[in-house]
Amino acid sequence: MSLLQPVRRARHRALWLQEALALEPDAEAVEPLSGAHRADICIVGGGYTGMWTAYQIKKRDPSVDVMLIEADICGGGASGRNGGFVTSWWAKLGSLIDKYGEAEGMRLAQASADGVEAIGQFCLDYGIDADFQPAGIIHAATSRPQIGSWDRAVQLTRDRGLDLFTELTPEETARRTGSPVHLGGVWERIGARVQPALLARGMRRVIIDQGVRVWEKTPATEIVRGRPPVVRTADAAIVADKVVLATNAWMASLPEIRRAVLPMSSDMVATAPMPERLAEIGWTGNECVGDAHMMVHYYRATRDGRIAFGKGGCSHAYLGQITQRFEDPGRRVDRTEQSFRRIYPHLRDVPITHTWTGPIDRSETNSLFFGHLDQNPDIIYGVGYSGTGVGPSYVGGQVLASTALERNDEWQQSPINRGPRSLYPYDPIRYFGGNIVRTAVLQQEADLNADRPSSGLVEFLVGFAPSGLRTSPPPREV
Ligand SMILES: Cc1cc2nc3c(=O)[nH]c(=O)nc-3n(C[C@H](O)[C@H](O)[C@H](O)COP(=O)(O)OP(=O)(O)OC[C@H]3O[C@@H](n4cnc5c(N)ncnc54)[C@H](O)[C@@H]3O)c2cc1C
Repeated sequence: MSLLQPVRRARHRALWLQEALALEPDAEAVEPLSGAHRADICIVGGGYTGMWTAYQIKKRDPSVDVMLIEADICGGGASGRNGGFVTSWWAKLGSLIDKYGEAEGMRLAQASADGVEAIGQFCLDYGIDADFQPAGIIHAATSRPQIGSWDRAVQLTRDRGLDLFTELTPEETARRTGSPVHLGGVWERIGARVQPALLARGMRRVIIDQGVRVWEKTPATEIVRGRPPVVRTADAAIVADKVVLATNAWMASLPEIRRAVLPMSSDMVATAPMPERLAEIGWTGNECVGDAHMMVHYYRATRDGRIAFGKGGCSHAYLGQITQRFEDPGRRVDRTEQSFRRIYPHLRDVPITHTWTGPIDRSETNSLFFGHLDQNPDIIYGVGYSGTGVGPSYVGGQVLASTALERNDEWQQSPINRGPRSLYPYDPIRYFGGNIVRTAVLQQEADLNADRPSSGLVEFLVGFAPSGLRTSPPPREV
């Protein structure tokens, strides 16, 4: 038996969810599931992972009876609150090849790039107006040592005959991003921006049309690990041949996942609409922009001319518990606003109208993995996006759908489907040590921004950051 942790609610929904729910006035007025039920496959979690899994199961076999239960509303988790960068894994090609070998690394990177295109096509096919803009990603340096942090990704792809990255001069970077604080960069052509909650709510509509039985405001409280497994909620029980856990950071309280995933928060701020100011500063190309700080900055414009700006790694969880700090950022979000003001000093008079936060499922290696709870072949999970799940959740849905249907294909057989590759230390060492390391990382960031060397102690402590963050920083990780 596994008890699942409760899902709390933010005091205010993120900007994206506010916009999406304005189009669905009755979305919150749903009844939870009650009674005894049977399904072929029960998915727990209505974010992109759960919904892509449902979608891809139905694509593969429309006769399969799928139920999906969600504690909040579909898209209420990270999927409705993120930065809306739809990325591929080309920037992570080096670490994919290191982990899985040349052939599988290339296959996964190509699959993730196909996923970016498929999400755009999905929006077109189903009439989802989610502002999907495939204008690519600019990986930019906001301090001198970040210049060239993209070199390995550029070289590895070029060595394989792929023309995916274009180096930008400092002037071009500053011009295209509207900020002279950018000292250089590279444009990755595969990548898009999206309004994340509109995508999530559109996916919900599509899977319901496919025949998936979706129950919102229905938190699973317990998974009974038998064969077949049973999912219990406050008022219902679902017996299913397969259970797919797609609860992202909330999964981290489970004993098997706790040391493999560290929930971290990522905070976002959004300005008031200012389309004329964006035109003035020249950021008109719809590209998403991210830097290479360990607690990354990521920013993009919105359809109505705001800037939505985020910062990763703002706090982390004890024993995998997603507390209210992951729902309401409080004063902590000031730091994210300061970063925005540093990068866009000429927009200092533009007000911030929205702030929000959300949990990230940071794995030790910074990469996604799939597996079975307790080696029970009927309980399947996928977790560890580490802040880059918008595009890769399409791949996640393929792995989970094939595994749930026992297809034994390249998705089920992939080495990405064999559990975590590395573990964090036990709590409380991880928690208290993590706080010390994060303080050092913030000090290093301040030193880099001020163009001065960090102390030996700061450098030493930063060396204890998770392995996936220390080595070959991919240009964009939330
Ligand atoms: C602020 C922020 C910015 C981000 N920016 C980006 C970005 O720009 N690009 C990018 O690629 N990634 C980004 N990410 C990460 C990205 O949002 C996630 O990787 C992705 O949404 C993961 O989808 P998911 O379905 O796995 O998780 P989620 O969307 O979190 O879905 C999990 C769902 O499970 C539900 N749940 C939990 N417990 C239970 C239970 N017991 N019973 C029923 N339901 C339960 C939750 O309510 C939630 O809806 C960001 C994340 C955050 C928080």
